[in-house]
Formats: sequence, structure tokens, C-alpha cells
Amino acid sequence: MKIETQCLHAGYRGKNGETHVLPIYQSTTYNYDSTEHVGKLFDLTAPGHMYSRISNPTVDAVEQKIAALEGGVGALCTTSGQAASLISLLNIMGCGDHFVSASTIYGGTVNLFAVTLKKFGIDVTFVDADATEEEIQKAFRPNTKAVFGETIANPAISVLDIEKFANIAHKNEVPLIVDNTFATPVLCRPFEYGADIVIHSTTKYMDGHAIQVGGVIVDSGKFNWENGKFPSLVEPDESYHGVSYTKDFGNLAYITKARVQLMRDLGAYPSANAAFLLNLGLETLHLRMERHSQNADKVAHFLAQSDKMEFVNYPTLDGDRYQKLAQKYLPHGCSGVISFSLKGGREAAIRFIDSLKLATLVVHVADVRTCVLHPASSTHRQLTDEQLVGAGITPGLIRLSVGIENVDDILEDVAQALENA
Ligand SMILES: *Cc1c(COP(=O)(O)O)cnc(C)c1O
Repeated sequence: MKIETQCLHAGYRGKNGETHVLPIYQSTTYNYDSTEHVGKLFDLTAPGHMYSRISNPTVDAVEQKIAALEGGVGALCTTSGQAASLISLLNIMGCGDHFVSASTIYGGTVNLFAVTLKKFGIDVTFVDADATEEEIQKAFRPNTKAVFGETIANPAISVLDIEKFANIAHKNEVPLIVDNTFATPVLCRPFEYGADIVIHSTTKYMDGHAIQVGGVIVDSGKFNWENGKFPSLVEPDESYHGVSYTKDFGNLAYITKARVQLMRDLGAYPSANAAFLLNLGLETLHLRMERHSQNADKVAHFLAQSDKMEFVNYPTLDGDRYQKLAQKYLPHGCSGVISFSLKGGREAAIRFIDSLKLATLVVHVADVRTCVLHPASSTHRQLTDEQLVGAGITPGLIRLSVGIENVDDILEDVAQALENA
């Protein structure tokens, strides 16, 4: 199936007499015929649902859909994008380990990496994503276990050179984890360029309607975990009578461990209802991403020709630093998010935002409705000036998330707000 068809049909199809629409299995628990079968479930030797902290048929269908969209072997839904980032790393790392991350990433992820994971004894080195392979290589240590980056960084709107990052990661025998939230698999499938694990905040375009916070981890099934660096995936897991994830689950080792061990212990699994809502969003993802990209391209070009602009970040603009990378990784569009700065800096940004009539001021992005945010005074408020620069943010930066309204209405609103700014 092509991706547009997968958005609708992957993961669930009602058989004879079954519901046409994915049903909500609103149940915490499951019935069994014998204690022997339950024993097998707990030994991980029979497939099936144990408890809705670990899996649920509605969530399972959505996981299968997202795995198909990304071209992975399996997926695990989480209660938020933050939980997806956390579990994607904890699954292969522990106290004393280290990883390398692009510095241009979501502000919440910076907090998780630089503050909270440090308290767990997991250290991170942030690198300039545009640096050469040789420069990035200097960040590696003997205990480095992963590399992390964002396809389109929020809110810098920089494009990650996924192949470069995959090369560096693989030279060091560690996986590349890519946060593909802004691109979605409709615009870019990082596995095709060598990424090993993909994560999403499904809260953004996948849901698309600002309804449900959620996340997902997708496994490409391609990384060789038996290279001596990842004993927790190879050596017997005492919490499952000595299961070895690589030996017993083959190319599903990573995603199986994330579910049956970490999700069991951390408990960040979404409800059936949450997955049902996410599925509704996924059904129209391909249409929405096309329109978001078209509208944002027009709005970005409109902004760029205004003499009030200090700069506009959008990869389809001539002269944009990421135009070449976008042509390679995002040939069908660059999604709906633009960031820009007015010449008047912070004050002009505030006047612009407060003058908008159609676009709403929200702590959100990637919504069907056009919305706007001033990162320096909200989502990225906690970052130091140095971290702000690293994340590609200036005090006057405005993040405009272009919706799927008629683009003329959006342009009219932006034009009148520019007048007032
Ligand atoms: C929002 C976001 C996250 C965090 O996701 P939540 O669902 O809000 O927890 C992670 N990465 C990116 C790129 C995001 O935009």
C-alpha cells in the first residue's frame, strides 16, 4: 500500500460482520481459558494481551499503522512525546552511559536531556548539527550509546542531515534516534536514510487537531544490538526468567524490550480512547501535511518579501540555509511551521502576536488551525542565552504554525499584524 492508503487501512480492517471503524477496547484486562496460557504470556512465549499498561487491541492497531507508515518492524505508543524520547533512550542506556544529541531540538527535550537524565547518571553532549563529521566525532566517548536529532527542528526549522548523522552513529556502532514529529512519515521516512529508531510527539501533526497528548517509538529492526555495547538487549533479563531479547525476538528485540520491560515498569501507556482519537488524525494525515506545506510555503514567501523582516526560516525559501537538505529529505513539502524574527526584536514580536486576529496564541504547534507562539517567553523560557542560541532561537523569534485554512485568510491576518508591528 502507498502511504495515503496506509493512513486509512493499515493496522485495522474489520472482518466479516466486525466494525468498519477501529473499535475502542475500553478494558484494563483480558480473559483466558487456562492458567497455562497466562503463564506463557508472562514467559513471553505466547503472543497476546496481558494488561492495558503493556498493550491493548485499540492501541495495538494504531501502533501497527504507525509502524507501517514509517516502514518499521514495530511501534510502541506512549502517553506523550516526552515519554517516547525518555523510553527510547532508557531502553539502551543506564547510569554511567552517554549520548550525543544535535543541539537544535525541542526545548522540552533539552530539559529532559540536560537536567533530568543527568540526575539518572546519563550524560549528553550537544553538538552543532551542521558541523562536519570530524567535528561531531569529537563528542564521542567509549561509553556513548546513541545519537539523537530532529528531522525538522522545533523551532529553529533546521533540517537534519540524517545520512550524515547515521554514518557517524554507525561508525561508532550506536543507533541513530530521530524525532520525526514535524515532518511525519508523509514528508520524510528517516529509516530510508539510515536512522534506526524514530520517535514522535503524536500530539502534533499525527493527531493534528490539538485533542490528545501522545507519543510513539518506532523500531526499524535493522540495528545490530549484539555488538557488545548493549548487554541489556542480549543478556538474560532476570525480570522475565532469563529472556534474551535479541535471541528470542530477533529484529523485534528493541521494541519488545521497550514494551514488556520498560512500559511494564514505567507505566506510560496510552488509553484505548487516546489511541482511537490519534487514529482519526492519522486517517487524514497525508491530506493535511500537503495543505500545511503548501500554505506555509506561501506564507513564508510573503513574510520574506516584507522589509520588516530580520530573517525568515523556512526551507523552501531561496537562500535558506537548509534548502539543499530539504530538497533531499523533504521533496514533498516542509510541513507547516515557519519561524521568523522582525527587525524590532522582542517588542515587535509581541506587538505582531498580539495583533493577530485569526491565528491563535497557544502553547501548541502543528494544529489544523493557524497558531503562533513566542518561544523565548514560553516554551524555551528556561533555557540560558547560550542554550537559546544552540536551539536556534533569538529573543524576537516567532513560531508560526500555519494551518489548513484558506491561505488568503491567513495572509490577510499576517499582513495586518505586520502593519501593527
Ligand atoms: C512537542 C514536541 C515533543 C514533546 O512531545 P509532547 O507530546 O508534548 O510530550 C517532542 N519533540 C518535538 C519535536 C515536539 O514538537
